[in-house]
Amino acid sequence: MSEVLNPATGEVVGFVPASSLAQVDAAVGRADAAFRRWRAVAPGERARVLRRFAAVVDAHLEELARLEVRNSGHPIGNARWEAGNVRDVLDYYAGAPERLTGRQIPVPGGLDVTFHEPLGVVGVIVPWNFPMPIAAWGFAPALAAGNTVLLKPAELTPLTALRLAELAREAGVPDDVFTVLPGAGSVVGERFVTHPAVRKICFTGSTEVGTRIMAGCAAQVKRLTLELGGKSANLVFADADLERAAATAPYAVFDNAGQDCCARSRILVQRPVYDRFLELLEPAVRALRVEDPAREGAEMGPLISAAQRDRVARYVDGANVAFAGSRPDGPGFWHAPTVLLADSVADRHWREEIFGPVVSVLPFDDEADAVRLANDTEYGLSGSIWTRDVGRALRMARAVEAGNLSVNSHSSVRYWTPFGGMKRSGLGRELGPDALHAFTDVKNVFIATEE
Ligand code: NAD
Repeated sequence: MSEVLNPATGEVVGFVPASSLAQVDAAVGRADAAFRRWRAVAPGERARVLRRFAAVVDAHLEELARLEVRNSGHPIGNARWEAGNVRDVLDYYAGAPERLTGRQIPVPGGLDVTFHEPLGVVGVIVPWNFPMPIAAWGFAPALAAGNTVLLKPAELTPLTALRLAELAREAGVPDDVFTVLPGAGSVVGERFVTHPAVRKICFTGSTEVGTRIMAGCAAQVKRLTLELGGKSANLVFADADLERAAATAPYAVFDNAGQDCCARSRILVQRPVYDRFLELLEPAVRALRVEDPAREGAEMGPLISAAQRDRVARYVDGANVAFAGSRPDGPGFWHAPTVLLADSVADRHWREEIFGPVVSVLPFDDEADAVRLANDTEYGLSGSIWTRDVGRALRMARAVEAGNLSVNSHSSVRYWTPFGGMKRSGLGRELGPDALHAFTDVKNVFIATEE
């Protein structure tokens, strides 16, 4: 049994069993057997089951959100969005089974058709930062395509995933089609990688672990989607709406206490407006409501653990702090939102993913300089471009090496548009109209018509 803590208070909120290797192997066997049945379910019926699952999640939205507040310390408003996202992703992919069409390709002497065949058992490995949405981005399209799913939540945040498994059963998802296996990455996660009956891994987490998983999958040519780290740039040009850019910048990095792979944790400001931007940014950071995440209107909660808080604090120690917001006193794993000035691009806080409420700011001169600095990272997940010049916005959007960019906005995620990283931020795309294909293999069949 492992203890599960409330990061806002440090109190124990539950105990969760850790799955053993033997339990994982048994679950893989059952999921493999269930796959034969699930893939044979008529598309319209599979769609109905997923729609019912979405409806049951919807009926338990507040309960799921409150559970996430207790387990992950997310502000209640964010947690409601996250539970709603699970419902929406299920609803969206519930539309997929009847539309998973192949092609008919003209060939001489017969008929050529393609099928999108499900893969089998899919292992979804989830990090602790967005336990509900990231789980759903894997399991919903995987199930819609006719696969069965084993889901491993992060050790620190298993509670909502376990509840979702119960809700799936209540909605009529057949036994062993969707199974949640809490436990250690080194046991459960690694077994997903090494077990030959698990045909695909859908991993979200650190670039370090993702790299190891990719090497492990290579041994079996196992299909793999990776959503990894980020160090995204927020580019503010002198011609931008500076007030809006400064007012929104804190949310682009301090949302979820900065524990967001899409966090715009490097702010690049064109030199003529650099001082003015910082003047505008300071009150916005100080006004951020960092408080008990269960309170309505809370904007930022604690970090996920004491270890994560201490790790974040080490980046701030000795760095050039411009200003910081507030944090509550007392127990819990709190860190104030903090703005650092980068002395050079060699600064650790400028280069490394901190995964906490810390942002680094640096001036730039022109477009070429902005592109060079934005791309001077191993990562390529997201980013924002603030300018009133449409041509510049498009030039920058094409030049910045990242999978998800927004212009005059910080939005990254819509369940109906693709999401994923370039470079070492990942491999493949989740969400959107094409994600289903990542859970299928194309089969080509030629049928001779000549006598
Ligand atoms: P992590 O890599 O330590 O753990 C992620 C998951 O992998 C956990 O469930 C863990 O138990 C499991 N795991 C650990 N070792 C494993 C192994 N050897 N084999 C198989 N599974 C293993 O990451 P974390 O600290 O939980 O999450 C933070 C990281 O996730 C950050 O780097 C962040 O950028 C990244 N992230 C990326 C995205 C994205 O979409 N690109 C989204 C959220 C988080």
